[in-house]
Amino acid sequence: LFVPGPLAAGAAVAIEGGQAHYLAKVMRVAPGDAVVLCDDMTGEWAAAVVSAGKRDVVLELREQLRAREDVPDFWLCAALLKKPNFDLVLEKATELGVRRIQPMVTRRCVADKLNPERARTIVTEAAEQCARTALPELAPATRLDTLLRDWPQDRALFFADEQGGEPAAAAFAAHAGPAALLVGPEGGFDDGERAAIRAHPQARAITLGPRILRGETAGIAGCALWMATAGDWS
Ligand code: SAM
Repeated sequence: LFVPGPLAAGAAVAIEGGQAHYLAKVMRVAPGDAVVLCDDMTGEWAAAVVSAGKRDVVLELREQLRAREDVPDFWLCAALLKKPNFDLVLEKATELGVRRIQPMVTRRCVADKLNPERARTIVTEAAEQCARTALPELAPATRLDTLLRDWPQDRALFFADEQGGEPAAAAFAAHAGPAALLVGPEGGFDDGERAAIRAHPQARAITLGPRILRGETAGIAGCALWMATAGDWS
C-alpha cells in the first residue's frame, strides 16, 4: 500500500479510510499479520499489524525491504482519450515503469479534461499491483502548445507519427538521456500541431510500424519499446 511518508523503522502507522477498509474487510488482516508499505519517498517496508479496528488499522514498521526505485527518466505525453482508453494508458504506463505521465490536450481530443483524483487512484492501484516502490509523477492535463513552449532543454521529444519517422527501436536504443514520447488522440494531431511538433528543435519523429494504431496502443507500445531498448528491462 502507498501511504504518506516518510516511513522509518519502528514507527507506528495508522491507516484509515478506504485503505483501512481494504485491509480489515477485504484482506481481513489480524494482529501480527505482515503488510508491505511504500511511501514514494524512502521505498518499501515490511510492517506488522498491531490492531485492526472499524475506523483504522495500526501497523508497526519493521525493516526496509527495497529502496525507492530509480525508473528511467522517460515521460509519456499522451493526448487525452475517451475515459476507458485513457484509464488503460494510465494503468499500463505505470506498470511499464515510466517516470511521468503527462496528459495532453490537443485540438482533436474528444475528452478535454481529466479527473485528477480518479487518475491518481488508477495510477496508485497500478503501482501497488505491479509492486513499484515509487509512483509515476502524474502531471496536470496540459495543452500541447504550452508543453512545446516550456519543453525542458535536456529532454528528447520523440513524436509518434503515423505518417512516418525513424524506426522507434533504433532511435530509442541510440538515445541516452531524458526522453519523452508524444502520442496523439483518436483523431490524431492536426496539420498545425504536427508542424509545431516537427519544428521543435528537440523533436524526432518515430514510427511504430506500418499500421494506424489507436492512441492507447501507440502509447503503451511506445512505453514498452522504450523500456525494452533504453529502459530498465535489460
Ligand atoms: N491519424 C490517425 C488516423 O489516420 O486514423 C489517427 C491518430 S491514431 C488513432 C492516434 C495516435 O497514435 C497518433 O496521433 C500517433 O501519435 C499514434 N500512432 C498511431 N499509429 C502510429 C504509428 N504507426 N507510428 C507512430 N505513431 C502512431
